[in-house]
Amino acid sequence: MDKYDLIVIGAGPGGYVAAIRGAQKGLNVAVVEADRVGGTCLNRGCIPTKAMIHASSLYREMQKGERFGVYAEGVSFDYGKICDYKQETVDSLVGGVEQLLKGNRITVIQGRGVLLPPEDGVNAVSVGEDVYYADNVILAAGSKPASLPVEGTDLTKVINSDGLFALDHAPKQLVIIGGGVIGVEFATVFSNLGSEVTILEALPKILDNFDKEISQNLKMILKKRGVDIHTSAMVSRFEDAGDDKVTAFYEEKGKEQSASGDYILVAAGRRPVTEGLFAEDAEPEMNGRYVKVDDAFRTSIHGVYAIGDLIGGIQLAHAASAHGIRAVEAICDSSGTQNVSVVPAGVYTDPEIAIVGLTEAQAKDQGIDVITGKFIMSANGKSLITKEERGFIKVVAEAGSEKILGAQMMCARATDMIGEFTTAIVNDLTVPDMLRSIMSHPTYSEGIGEALEDVHGMSLHTVPRPSRR
Ligand code: NAD
Repeated sequence: MDKYDLIVIGAGPGGYVAAIRGAQKGLNVAVVEADRVGGTCLNRGCIPTKAMIHASSLYREMQKGERFGVYAEGVSFDYGKICDYKQETVDSLVGGVEQLLKGNRITVIQGRGVLLPPEDGVNAVSVGEDVYYADNVILAAGSKPASLPVEGTDLTKVINSDGLFALDHAPKQLVIIGGGVIGVEFATVFSNLGSEVTILEALPKILDNFDKEISQNLKMILKKRGVDIHTSAMVSRFEDAGDDKVTAFYEEKGKEQSASGDYILVAAGRRPVTEGLFAEDAEPEMNGRYVKVDDAFRTSIHGVYAIGDLIGGIQLAHAASAHGIRAVEAICDSSGTQNVSVVPAGVYTDPEIAIVGLTEAQAKDQGIDVITGKFIMSANGKSLITKEERGFIKVVAEAGSEKILGAQMMCARATDMIGEFTTAIVNDLTVPDMLRSIMSHPTYSEGIGEALEDVHGMSLHTVPRPSRR
């Protein structure tokens, strides 16, 4: 009998991290994966998108070199080569994960894992005809793009992010359904490459769950780059428009409108991959379409855990990794190292967006009295040097205690800098605690110090409001 201490189903950033941490803790681990290791993040999500954002932003930047006295003639791009670079990046990271699994003596079982009912108290997983046993199983099967339940959704030119990555050419006209994270990141890539991009978003704002100022600013920036954005625009059907075009029909201000393109990208959320994951009588208690778990990611079945996109809530690679580590700690009876309830999020638009904790509005909704500080990056030296002065950093702290509750950033390197606020929140740091450290100069991080100083109206590089002069 093939028996392990731990079988992980799914080798995405949730599953492979759990497998490695399990092995580091001395468990005998197997991971079951139907595809390449790395999951959506490495193969079809974060990594390839960020590579395409990097290449397309470089193309856009090169055309604006004269701002720095640098001239380049005949700047062009080869979409096939951009895809090659993206794939090389993906392959190198996937190869790295394979090496890590091998180096940690983790057995990789190729195929689709199905959770079976436990046999004599031991959990069981089938992969094809084979059955493997383990004291513990972590379900980390991830998510897949949700399709829209509307007419025409199966037209070949109506694609999801997987389909978009498979194209060998950049669409001249792209209609994106959904102004969420995937929608605005792909709008960034293809508007950089000169495609005509339209975003149709059902809600009143793009990036609806982000700070209002971030959504409004991003809308303005994308519009300035030629992206046609329609909010409160609910898409109801797709039609083949002939001439290799496809049309999306949507309702805006009570009237039916349409937008056509070479392709329609549906970026309207992701669904957990639960079909086929459980044999009959082996389905744990569910919470709608998601697997229900407790705070250590235990499901209702003894020894079976679920993490990442399968459990709903925040669908981010680093959240899944943190869940995986927490689940392994629960298996090994060791205490949790990470605070899994404070999850930073980044959007790789230009400028970048990053958030953590509460916004001012969310804190107020929860009845928390707050104080806030804000710094506009046009007064930050590094931002002026690189001509990335557009943007701001906002900090939200509890009134009285001055404990940091949240931060919202829209500026260069925001996705790297947000970590400073994450560290502050999980360690209950206050505004004065954070201000104890000197920021080096010239850096974008000086904006963090200035936003913190602004909580007391003491930002050095902000012209005082007339009332304070
Ligand atoms: P999302 O939920 O962020 O956005 C989907 C958007 O589609 C919503 O704003 C929704 O209102 C809209 N929508 C739904 N039906 C519609 C309709 N009929 N007409 C018009 N608009 C409609 O989902 P996403 O952008 O697909 O991303 C999926 C997940 O992946 C998210 O949880 C996201 O956080 C994650 N993700 C994260 C990153 C990152 O961290 N940088 C990048 C990509 C994806």
